[in-house]
Amino acid sequence: MITVIVGKPHDGVKTKLVSLSDVVGATNEAEFEAGSRANIKPGEPKWANYVKGCIANFICDVPAFNAVIVSTVPAGAGLSSSAALEVATYTFLETLSGKKPEKPEEKALACQKAEHNFTGVPCGIMDQFISVMGKEGCALLLDCRDLITKQIPMLHMDNYIFLITNSNAPHKLSSSAYCERRDCCFEAAKILGKKSLRDANINDIQTLISRNASDHVIKRARHVVTEIQRTLDAAIALEKGDFQQFGRLMNESHDSLRDDYEVSSKELDSLVSAAREVDGVLGSRLTGAGFGGCTVTLLRKDVVNKTIQHMKAKYAGIPAFYIATPAGGAREISIN
Ligand code: ADP
Ligand code: MG
Repeated sequence: MITVIVGKPHDGVKTKLVSLSDVVGATNEAEFEAGSRANIKPGEPKWANYVKGCIANFICDVPAFNAVIVSTVPAGAGLSSSAALEVATYTFLETLSGKKPEKPEEKALACQKAEHNFTGVPCGIMDQFISVMGKEGCALLLDCRDLITKQIPMLHMDNYIFLITNSNAPHKLSSSAYCERRDCCFEAAKILGKKSLRDANINDIQTLISRNASDHVIKRARHVVTEIQRTLDAAIALEKGDFQQFGRLMNESHDSLRDDYEVSSKELDSLVSAAREVDGVLGSRLTGAGFGGCTVTLLRKDVVNKTIQHMKAKYAGIPAFYIATPAGGAREISIN
């Protein structure tokens, strides 16, 4: 899956964009005055705000340009099409201006800011980090406490592959559900006297119980602290090439997202259960924010077709399948 932006600067004042994505419908063209970064404001069509936000948060003013955007990342399915668009745009602006921020973190953070300020989506930082820092053949371990990253080589993966399955049930990221999860986590951290749940561990869940925290607060916090531990364990498993253990952790992660964080859906649960029934599947879980969207399954290469057939037969809807391997982040492509 890839998002490409192709464009050229000109001497005029208007920046013109065309997106060939289905998601933008009839309003696939956008036009605005680029001018100074400070004067760019969000507006219609909404999809162009991802691009405008990147221009506004770039390190310098850029000339007006004409550009076309093409993407094979399904939008709104939890596969980070918005971050792909932001990071592709930012990379395009780097080429246009010949300027880059000193550190890749600054690029990811500028793209996150673009999404916050220009589209009103209070997204986290994972999508932009992996779009900027992805390295072929590696997973990225990101600690959101201090934004420290580590590339984890996925060695000995020759016999295994990731299968992404789009439930084609739109991910209704209900803002009230999202806020409820956030509020519970802040509440749990406050009860524990910690800055965030990043500083908590499984023993703290007992403390929450003894301090009479609500059931919801306990469950949300339990998901977060166990997920942090699973992430660290998964990085170790990958480093050792222990895909069986990595798959088990994926399963535990889904079960915790379903039972404690309660962000799964019957469609995602059904796809995950179907995948796990196939011999040769190591693990399967939802990916993205939940409430619909996609699952990701780790499996032996030789059972891919069998797994797809089984998932199709068991799922009530019409899923779409993508084979994925860990690829590099955004980069300039020269057209000669
Ligand atoms: P996700 O990032 O999980 O795909 P989001 O809701 O965060 O879902 O982002 C989807 C939105 O991003 C779309 O509704 C659209 O506004 C914008 N978008 C993504 N890809 C494109 C594209 N190729 N062209 C135009 N807009 C896009
Ligand atoms: Mg997104």
